[in-house]
Amino acid sequence: MLYNSTENKNEIVSSAQAIAQGISKEGGLFVPQEMPSYDEDTFNELLKLDYKGRAKKIFGDFLTDFTTEEIEDCVESAYTAEKFGSDNPAPLVTKNYNGNEINILELWHGPTCAFKDMALQILPHFLTKSLKKTYDGKDAVILVATSGDTGKAALEGFKDVDHTKILVFYPVDGVSPMQKHQMNTQEGSNVNVCAIEGNFDDAQTGVKKIFTTTEIVDKLSENNMLFSSANSINWGRLLPQIVYYISAYCDLINTGKIKIGDKINVVVPTGNFGNILASYYASLMGLPINKFICASNSNNVLTDFINTGVYDKNRSFYTTISPSMDILVSSNLERLLYNLSDNNDEMTRNWMTQLKTEGKYQVTDEVKEKINSLFYGGYCNDNDTKETISKMFKEENYLCDTHTAVAVEVYDKYVSETGDKTPTVLASTASPYKFSNAVLTAINDGKDLPDNEFDMVDMLNDITGVAVPTPLAVLKNKASRFSDVCKSNEMPEYVLKSLGVK
Ligand SMILES: *Cc1c(COP(=O)(O)O)cnc(C)c1O
Repeated sequence: MLYNSTENKNEIVSSAQAIAQGISKEGGLFVPQEMPSYDEDTFNELLKLDYKGRAKKIFGDFLTDFTTEEIEDCVESAYTAEKFGSDNPAPLVTKNYNGNEINILELWHGPTCAFKDMALQILPHFLTKSLKKTYDGKDAVILVATSGDTGKAALEGFKDVDHTKILVFYPVDGVSPMQKHQMNTQEGSNVNVCAIEGNFDDAQTGVKKIFTTTEIVDKLSENNMLFSSANSINWGRLLPQIVYYISAYCDLINTGKIKIGDKINVVVPTGNFGNILASYYASLMGLPINKFICASNSNNVLTDFINTGVYDKNRSFYTTISPSMDILVSSNLERLLYNLSDNNDEMTRNWMTQLKTEGKYQVTDEVKEKINSLFYGGYCNDNDTKETISKMFKEENYLCDTHTAVAVEVYDKYVSETGDKTPTVLASTASPYKFSNAVLTAINDGKDLPDNEFDMVDMLNDITGVAVPTPLAVLKNKASRFSDVCKSNEMPEYVLKSLGVK
């Protein structure tokens, strides 16, 4: 299987090249040239397998330049019971909300308690094998600028992976105390973490500049290293997300909730459009999905886009209690537009150029109609998010995080508007304990909260009896390893020094 760029169909690469390179030369995203097609026989075969078995089959169909042994090695290293708490890294739990059954796909049982682990635990293995095939075994230096969740998930994924080094920059006052502590206590011999005096954009700009400074790139090359990225537009991060939708469908069949061929709806709390796009790709492979329900918070640029066909990022930015969805440019939407415009690279490139220059574009009527028949877009503000957490907890004794609550609320709106009762899978993207402050506020009926985030975790545990995930529970007593702070203009020097390159 080969891949080409959404902005230039003539740029064609292998899967190893797509993963090693991350983004195409002219800035487009790599997409598979065709999709594997799964029929009833394929699903019958998948039903008998466990999560890892299903993952191996699906990866094998996409990464055709990897050997079976390589794929097995990647899967076995990533989805261990030690890292995900059990042999099923993505369990389904069935709950009722306002009388509607929802199958909640819990994607946060990994080492950092957010769904990004599903991809970032396996990406380092895909990447090291891809680099071996394409760049002759050079060591990869992963630079990450993070506003919180991605940094920690990338650190955990890359820690002690041979032939990689990872360096994470975060804005010194721009992450939560819990996130800061998660990163500063990171274990591993190939990791480093540094705070930046500035905001997320300063960190991001600094990283981008380092990637493109020839002098630095050359110095690394002389030392047998090269920069690489763990960013969510990498095909190696999207592919692992296809697996859990197909696996959840198999689980629904195996538990007798649906039969092979029955349609389902999916609901996804969306930021960069990666997670929901993975479900769309699964549908192109043959997973029968009736409706893709795209849930946003008050940064509802996608809701408006789905309803009007106009993508307009020129609007206020809100800091919400579901911060991982506080995004105005959803990068992975580019891949959907390419597909819905019948692989029109020129049109896709024009829209993306308009987004860069004017902050806005409008798709054709034809593309808009396709979007409307497939997608439903809705959003939920902070107040309704808290009410949903509270109601779900009171009625079902189920504690969900702020991002998941946004999805539950938007799904509720969808069912009341449409009456559509198709069996539904809802992606739950984080442990409630990752956002203890907001979750606690939602359920403690106005009582005072402790100042310290670890005390909030304890209080939430006292009130709900829900177990604190081990990776968060042990954090409290972990010593900090990293305390460096630098100015954004000192980042290049910092990178070279920490790599031991002169
Ligand atoms: C990253 C993230 C999202 C958004 O996922 P996208 O793939 O960017 O749409 C939602 N919830 C949580 C908890 C996240 O960390």
